[in-house]
Amino acid sequence: MNLTNIGTVKDILSRHGFSFSKGLGQNFIINPDICPKIAEMGNAGEGFGIIEIGTGIGVLTAELARRAEKVCAVEIDTRLLPILEETLADFDNVKIFNEDVMKCDLNKIIQEEFGGLRAAVCANLPYYITSPVIMLLLESRLPIESITVMVQREAAQRLCAKVGTRESGAITVGVNYYGTVKQLFNVSRGSFMPAPNVDSAVIRIDLNSSHRLEADEEKFFFKVVKSGFSQRRKTVANALSSLMGIDKETVYSALEGVGLPQTARIEQLDMEQLIAFSSALFKK
Ligand code: SAM
Repeated sequence: MNLTNIGTVKDILSRHGFSFSKGLGQNFIINPDICPKIAEMGNAGEGFGIIEIGTGIGVLTAELARRAEKVCAVEIDTRLLPILEETLADFDNVKIFNEDVMKCDLNKIIQEEFGGLRAAVCANLPYYITSPVIMLLLESRLPIESITVMVQREAAQRLCAKVGTRESGAITVGVNYYGTVKQLFNVSRGSFMPAPNVDSAVIRIDLNSSHRLEADEEKFFFKVVKSGFSQRRKTVANALSSLMGIDKETVYSALEGVGLPQTARIEQLDMEQLIAFSSALFKK
């Protein structure tokens, strides 16, 4: 079944009485070039089990299943299940979990379903939860090698920014703490049904980081990062004293330790400075 043929897609959707939910970020891929590229660049291949988040009608799921040993896909919308039964009927290596990705136990799925296969995540993410899903995937420390996802262009720019620049955010620090990130290719809004108001891009995070703090210190590090960026226009001393109750003099001396002035803002600290700065605060 050709899931990028508009006539075929409209026919399936109307036979099942399906209407798109904007709230669930349902923009399905109809450009035939996109899904094979995501699958190939996202580690879907021999020896790999792939976790997909949000199947829609299964256009990406099918391309993943053609290449990987097994695909476990999490989809929240129950209305899509009978559609997927039809569109994925040719594949016996796909299992659908009708759950909310924010609440499901991905670690358990990987352990129980992949039987020692290498694992990776591939998805066209629902845009309303891009950052929370990426942070959840990272913070859960899943045994996965990469996360290859389609996100809105603006989110891709933030994810791929350099830490220590104005374009960066808490999510930029998150991906750079756990791995390395790069933008793979751009996707125009016309590649989706219905077409969203913005363009998209596919990025890949390789989970190959050398940064590893001890659990409590890591928790503290992300608290510092999130607090700092939630008031990014303020100096880091003002932000941390108001949100975390840390004494300004303590912040000044930690800043001095990484060679920065008292007036520094969080976005001016690069990755090494952020880690050293947070460690100095943690020890006080
Ligand atoms: N992969 C399909 C494609 O590319 O055509 C669909 C992508 S669409 C952008 C996002 C999908 O995620 C939708 O099918 C939507 O129902 C599903 N979704 C939204 N929120 C979800 C959640 N919290 N957990 C799991 N799936 C979710």
